[in-house]
Amino acid sequence: MMNVQRIMVIGAGQMGSGIAQVCAMAGYDVILHDLKIDFVEKGLGVIQKNLTRQVEKGRLTEDEKGSIVDRISSSTDLTNARNVDLVIEAAVENMEIKTKLFAELDQLAPQHAILATNTSSLPITEIAAATNRPEQVIGMHFMNPVPVMKLVEIIRGLATANEVYEAIEEITKKLNKVPVEVNDFPGFVSNRILMPMINEAIYTLYEGVASVEAIDEVMKLGMNHPMGPLTLADFIGLDTCLYIMETLHDGFGDDKYRPCPLLRKYVKAGWLGKKTGRGFYTYE
Ligand code: NAD
Repeated sequence: MMNVQRIMVIGAGQMGSGIAQVCAMAGYDVILHDLKIDFVEKGLGVIQKNLTRQVEKGRLTEDEKGSIVDRISSSTDLTNARNVDLVIEAAVENMEIKTKLFAELDQLAPQHAILATNTSSLPITEIAAATNRPEQVIGMHFMNPVPVMKLVEIIRGLATANEVYEAIEEITKKLNKVPVEVNDFPGFVSNRILMPMINEAIYTLYEGVASVEAIDEVMKLGMNHPMGPLTLADFIGLDTCLYIMETLHDGFGDDKYRPCPLLRKYVKAGWLGKKTGRGFYTYE
């Protein structure tokens, strides 16, 4: 079994900072990398804040917090990949950016290193094909917020080697998460099921079947979902929801995945949900 001790996380945004945090908490040495030092520092700030909350709740000591933070170093230079056993890529959801990164990482990272991506919808097999080590490329799909959510969907690309899958499964358990194995098809399992449900909720609104509040209330109280689908869509970001529906629609070529026109309209209007202050609901 491969011995992984140093992990590089690419992208210090919402997901990357959470991934760096859980890796450092599990005792790994982490390099948190982004395009600009400001972005890395912003991610580190979020990690500090999360850990301080854990200390206040009595779940961590001040000393433990200190050593977790000390295990994370900053990077804006991709050549730092020369020194790692595993890369977890959590940059933006864009195929061109991801394939370019993977081609570069393939040149830089040591031969034994595993290259993982946190993509929520892009084909692992296609990302792997940008490298000369497709058997060492794998999907490691964390859920948001990373420190809280238990699931990691582990996606095997067409060429992913068994021992690579097993190594990633073991690391996921060390992170105190639950790995679930899936194959590489559009949306994997999580978004193939979640996004059509959200899209259907938007159709329900579009066709005037019920109000925004009523739709969310039915799914909360009737199905015991912790939040309604339209609230969830606002949290995920309506641009992201549209992007994933388009990936499903293109990938399967089946009209049952066609994005609701109302979703398109909101995205065109710039109503992207919580992050822009307006989606199906309005936010401060
Ligand atoms: P984000 O916008 O918060 O963060 C992305 C970061 O990547 C930014 O800081 C950006 O500067 C950086 N970046 C962009 N290009 C880069 C490059 N070439 N090199 C290094 N850094 C680069 O986005 P996010 O929500 O953290 O999403 C990151 C990835 O995780 C995406 O692939 C997304 O689909 C996936 N994902 C997101 C969620 C979610 O709920 N937000 C859930 C699961 C998976």
